[in-house]
Amino acid sequence: MPAPFSDGFRQRNRVAEERLAGLTTFRIGGPATVAVLDDRADLAEAIAHAPRWLGKGANLLVGDAPLPQPVMRLGRDFDYIRDLGKREGRSIVAAGSATDLAKLISHCIAAGLAGPEGLAGVPATVGGALRMNAGTVHCWTLDFVSRVEVVLPGRDAPEWIERGSMAAAYRCNGLPPGTIFLGCELALEPGDPAVLKERGAKLKKAKADTQPLALPSAGCVFKNPSKETPAGRLVDQLGLKGCRIGGAEVSPVHANFIVNPGRDALAMDVVRLVRRIRRTAFRERGIVLEMEVEAWNCPDELRAHPSELPDESSGRPVVRSSGRQDLTDACATPNASGDPTTGQTDDRTTGQGQ
Ligand SMILES: Cc1cc2nc3c(=O)[nH]c(=O)nc-3n(C[C@H](O)[C@H](O)[C@H](O)COP(=O)(O)OP(=O)(O)OC[C@H]3O[C@@H](n4cnc5c(N)ncnc54)[C@H](O)[C@@H]3O)c2cc1C
Repeated sequence: MPAPFSDGFRQRNRVAEERLAGLTTFRIGGPATVAVLDDRADLAEAIAHAPRWLGKGANLLVGDAPLPQPVMRLGRDFDYIRDLGKREGRSIVAAGSATDLAKLISHCIAAGLAGPEGLAGVPATVGGALRMNAGTVHCWTLDFVSRVEVVLPGRDAPEWIERGSMAAAYRCNGLPPGTIFLGCELALEPGDPAVLKERGAKLKKAKADTQPLALPSAGCVFKNPSKETPAGRLVDQLGLKGCRIGGAEVSPVHANFIVNPGRDALAMDVVRLVRRIRRTAFRERGIVLEMEVEAWNCPDELRAHPSELPDESSGRPVVRSSGRQDLTDACATPNASGDPTTGQTDDRTTGQGQ
């Protein structure tokens, strides 16, 4: 079915048929009409078709079947970083949602502006980071944001919302589901570029030491159920590290990552592996694991209570790979010491994501 974009939209923007496996870090996902909104003047038409909005695809599991609706990415007019001078003693930096988060972090480090380097190593666009309130052991994205430019659900015109009126929490931006993030302004304190650079490098190294970064994944699959129980440690304790279904495997390096080592996993392989983990966590420990990774065009069971999940008797075989390592959760678990290997958390992980 052809996507419902006008000729003018197609001339000013980019519309193509693509497999989402090529646009997600999991390397999983079926075909879809993918539009890149380069011209801000066409925002209302993009919103009118109510498509899904895609950033870097680093927090997504996309089903294997064709997506029934177009997918929208932000392009040229939303890819910018601008220094806006000082306001109330802090330096204001504006960033569009299509901007790569790593580029924004590098810009701030070079300009001697502190804070964003604490997000080093998080793969994201600015829009995806705002939407997810992405974070590390040091900070969350919305910690440095003074206001966001958004389109709220049911509207078709942008507006600015002050950060102070957003009830942000762990992996939650505080705005209604379906809000589209167009950009933001950061309000930053000064810092020594050399110190900021070293801090960012240390964080990236800690992630590289404890996460399977060379393999396709969507990062941490589950939200941490509590500050005492990081999801990675729980999955490890359940003996599921290395468990494999089809092409999907619980990473032997970090048990809250599911990886796609052969780049041949189906979305259903991941769904069945998630089912197995959630059922086991509930049966053995009474814990309800919730998804941190977002799922598109996948079975509703990912949001179901574990007691309602189907059994695993059908489909591709379950095998256990040999490698087991005793590494701890270091994905998204802030802890007081700032040491990502301790797995001890501060109270910021206990809020619910959206
Ligand atoms: C190796 C690896 C390590 C990771 N480590 C971390 C980590 O330490 N901390 C952490 O928090 N996350 C981590 N993640 C997950 C991921 O980096 C974050 O969730 C990130 O914020 C996703 O951004 P994105 O641009 O890729 O968004 P996408 O994955 O493309 O989208 C995620 C969600 O945001 C929505 N979205 C995207 N752009 C917009 C927009 N402009 N407006 C409205 N909605 C939008 C999408 O519709 C979707 O619902 C990791 C992922 C990987 C693969």
